[in-house]
Amino acid sequence: MIINMSAEATEEEINHVIERVKECDYQAHVSRGTERTIIGAVGSGGRRNEIEALRAAPGVEDIIPITQPFKLVSQQVKHGRTIVDVRGVKIGDSDLIVMAGPCSVESRDQLFETARAVKAAGADMLRGGAYKPRTSPYDFQGLGIEALEWLKEASEETGLPVVTEVMSEADVEIVAKYADMLQVGARNMQNFSLLRRVATVNLPILLKRGPSATVKEWLLAAEYLLAGGNPNVVLCERGIRTFETGTRNTLDLAGLALARELSHLPVIADPSHGTGVRSLIPAMSSAAVGAGADGLMIEVHPCPERALSDGPQSLDIPGFAQLMQSLRQRARTFAGGAV
Ligand code: PEP
Ligand code: MN
Repeated sequence: MIINMSAEATEEEINHVIERVKECDYQAHVSRGTERTIIGAVGSGGRRNEIEALRAAPGVEDIIPITQPFKLVSQQVKHGRTIVDVRGVKIGDSDLIVMAGPCSVESRDQLFETARAVKAAGADMLRGGAYKPRTSPYDFQGLGIEALEWLKEASEETGLPVVTEVMSEADVEIVAKYADMLQVGARNMQNFSLLRRVATVNLPILLKRGPSATVKEWLLAAEYLLAGGNPNVVLCERGIRTFETGTRNTLDLAGLALARELSHLPVIADPSHGTGVRSLIPAMSSAAVGAGADGLMIEVHPCPERALSDGPQSLDIPGFAQLMQSLRQRARTFAGGAV
């Protein structure tokens, strides 16, 4: 339920309502706007009548049900949009945030060459997989802790915060020691025990959309994180499985726009996994920006033909620099008003 306090409600009246909500075994999520405060009352619904009765409490203007099955991620419960701070990089603010780096960390040299190059080209964050979810057990599985150590070193040298995937509950503690943001990969979007575990970590989470998940299921997965106590969640559209075989996945930009409309959380796009095709990345990056994406995740490798994973969808270093330049030029064109 959403409790809209009137513009004239006093602090005492607001606190009284919050207390009553808690007494009814609901969580109270308070969002203070410039004009008025809204209180999201979220619970299993047992004492709903008592919440509804708060309509009569002083300072309450209106009580309306949260119409969506997801509650805390719904834009209904919050004034404005969430901005997620990853060691000083603000995702969801006005700037487009670019996370770039190799699909997998393969060696110290490969990582450092890529990290320095993406930093020079203007990336905001470094990505790189240490634990890789591979379709085949015979494919490269990632270098684990060694890769985490290099990611941390590369981050210290370049100043870029690191986002890296954690695949299992058992690895959460170690990955959280090295990373600035934990990635929950597409295949794990509905791994509810992993979601519950990362919800307790004091780091922001990048939640990728499952390849066959609806937008509603994706937002409900995010709800696990917020309900578990972690409000710092960024959603990532990385393509869904459709009948199309010309691309690896179908980057669902309507789904991205819908998620941004239904939720206050930032949403970024991953055109690398979203297409699987290097040449399509610049077009899909611009399209994602046009659809309202708060950021992009791009795979970059110094020599894609030698990559141990996802070479065909990785930009080389000059290709990434060119993409960054064209994104900047577009921003200038729009800012100047001439299209
Ligand atoms: C990745 O980012 O390297 C990755 C494996 O992504 P996804 O979970 O979207 O497939
Ligand atoms: Mn990849």
